[in-house]
Amino acid sequence: MSRSQALIFCLAASCAVSAFARPFSGEKALAFTREAVADGPRPSGSPAIEHLRVQILAELKRTGCKVSFDDFTATTPDGAVKMRNIICTFPGKSGRAVVITGHYDTKKQPGFVGANDGGSSTGFLMELAAASAGAPRTDDLVIVFFDGEEAVKQWQDGDNTYGSRHLAETWKNDGMLGKIKALINVDMIGDKDLDLIYDTNSTTDLRNLVWTVAEKSGYGAHFPRTPSAMEDDHIPFIQAGVKSVDLIDFTFGPRNQYWHTTQDTMDKLSANSFAIIGAVVMDSIRELEAQP
Ligand SMILES: [Zn+2]
Repeated sequence: MSRSQALIFCLAASCAVSAFARPFSGEKALAFTREAVADGPRPSGSPAIEHLRVQILAELKRTGCKVSFDDFTATTPDGAVKMRNIICTFPGKSGRAVVITGHYDTKKQPGFVGANDGGSSTGFLMELAAASAGAPRTDDLVIVFFDGEEAVKQWQDGDNTYGSRHLAETWKNDGMLGKIKALINVDMIGDKDLDLIYDTNSTTDLRNLVWTVAEKSGYGAHFPRTPSAMEDDHIPFIQAGVKSVDLIDFTFGPRNQYWHTTQDTMDKLSANSFAIIGAVVMDSIRELEAQP
């Protein structure tokens, strides 16, 4: 059945339409990640992150999503840094939105290429956009690439989550926050040895929805229910009253020793981990779209 035939069938039978054009490809997400990592270290304000933006925009153009920017100048311990959140919207018809986010900057640190931390979220979002192209949908699907997640120096005193804090403010002012049914943030989800934090800062019912989807799909082993509190790009949205959940694997290597080190490289990642998170996020979006 072609997509148009499927749509006609669905209209006739008034069935729930599938929110995606095709299944999520872990291989493609990994390939996008590899392209991003080839740019080398990609801290906010660097020529490398600007080059990555060009690549992201070229790919997003092919998906047909509506691209917009949230531009701002962040005040950091290293001075003023220009930052840009990239927003890719696939419109639905309900007036509500489901938002999937992740960061595309990497920590400013010599030799740090962030294959998992910064790379995997970028590759994941690129593939999610590609797999969403042209599919009829109920709610707006909004895919956001955050700039400035990483601390320029230390994760304290506002030196972190520059992009998500700015977008939460922008969306508070323009009324977008009120349209959001749920926000799912992904971070460090490419690790071969995938096991996520059961983040206690996330919204309980949304976290439960995602974990239940994972368990029903047979992925429960990667989604243990061991509580731990995580600070990440979902926090500004939680604080703004948006239901949000963070999907992050914070055990990257023995005792998390690959995290924020030059060991965060492509050989630590697997297409299978991307595929698991992709399937769970897509099914979670379908569940959310079925809700009023
Ligand atoms: Zn990081």
